[in-house]
Amino acid sequence: MSNHQHDDDIIRCSFCGRTAHEVTSMVAGPDVYICDRCINDASGIVSSDVTAAPRNKPTSATGSRPTGSKRRLSPLEMKSALDEYVVGQDHAKKALSVAVYNHYKRIDSSEYYSEYQDVELEKSNILLIGPTGTGKTLLAKTLARILDVPFCISDATALTEAGYVGEDVESILANLLHASDFNVERAERGIIYIDEVDKVARKSDNASITRDVSGEGVQQALLKILEGTVAGVPPKGGRKHPEQSLINIDTSNILFICGGAFDGLNEVIASRISSNSIGFTADAKNKMDKFDPAILQHVEPHDLVRFGLIPELIGRLPVISALDNLSEDAMRNILLEPKNALLKQYKKLFSMDGMDLSFDEGAVTAIVKKAKSLGTGARGLRAVLEDTMLEIMFDIHSHSNIAHCIITRETVEKKGQPIFEPKKASA
Ligand code: ADP
Repeated sequence: MSNHQHDDDIIRCSFCGRTAHEVTSMVAGPDVYICDRCINDASGIVSSDVTAAPRNKPTSATGSRPTGSKRRLSPLEMKSALDEYVVGQDHAKKALSVAVYNHYKRIDSSEYYSEYQDVELEKSNILLIGPTGTGKTLLAKTLARILDVPFCISDATALTEAGYVGEDVESILANLLHASDFNVERAERGIIYIDEVDKVARKSDNASITRDVSGEGVQQALLKILEGTVAGVPPKGGRKHPEQSLINIDTSNILFICGGAFDGLNEVIASRISSNSIGFTADAKNKMDKFDPAILQHVEPHDLVRFGLIPELIGRLPVISALDNLSEDAMRNILLEPKNALLKQYKKLFSMDGMDLSFDEGAVTAIVKKAKSLGTGARGLRAVLEDTMLEIMFDIHSHSNIAHCIITRETVEKKGQPIFEPKKASA
């Protein structure tokens, strides 16, 4: 057995392996050392166990299964919780709920289900494909909220292969560590959303002569953390540099959700479908399918390879789900229905000032139409509302006796004056 403590006479923490130079203080026992960080972590684990776990149960004990208030949500419960915040996207919600359910079952399997140890469950990272503003980030964020696990969003385009200008892939983990208030154990069960993975696609099928540091290089770098590795993370993010103390994070239980718009993937899928099918001329079939909004639902891993993702990366994203374009009805629902729907938010802002706010039917339709024309999915709704409401919110306080403000189609389309109803004179 290798003895951590006395390699080359350097004192190392027996738990994390850091040297005395890398930590603030070290406590020595008979033949063992523990650093201040591990003491902190251990104390965090013990105190969270006291509240969360049955008494006297070691963290990795086998036998009893998770029950009670910490009970795992079933996929059905998870989907209905998602329904409260995210409109439509039923297929993606189902795929996510099942994948996440299996993911946490897999984590618990090493702790609770010792009888199934012989079958190793693979990690089910997820790839969400869909146009911008259709709810990819919202789905990931809402899941993390439902599950009460740390969550962070990173942008694949900001990353570069280690050693080049840009952020190391480990900086993603630093973000998660921040989101979990530096509780390593919590971070290791978190969810990371990596946006714009389509932007790191390989530019061409040929291996290029110059190295592709921002495309394939990043995909290669992502492979390891997606699969599961112990990464040394600079606590403040940014680049690693010598003499910096690093926090070790095991990524094997972190769930990665990658998302991207994958512009042009529809053509790749259409050309595959057309070349496989009989009965239509290839051209006719191609045209028909390429513009079919549901075509992304037919995506297969091979299409993603043709798009420019490396096969190894696709292999580590076994759950692929395509999001639908938002219809006008869906946009309308997004304005009105979710728990924190945009219109509800504005109404709340007004009511805090003692005023009622409402949007008449014409206004809602006009907002949806205008937003749809922006082509940024539901994100356009906020842009249109901000634009419509800015002036009104700016000078409403100059009218002292308004009880009710009604936004109409005129207000949205032509910035016309809303209808103001005055406060009733008290008798
Ligand atoms: P993207 O697909 O580009 O990641 P986001 O999830 O960031 O899009 O969505 C942008 C905003 O649009 C969100 O903050 C949310 O308010 C709204 N939105 C998008 N799709 C939906 C949806 N299906 N249901 C409810 N709100 C949505």
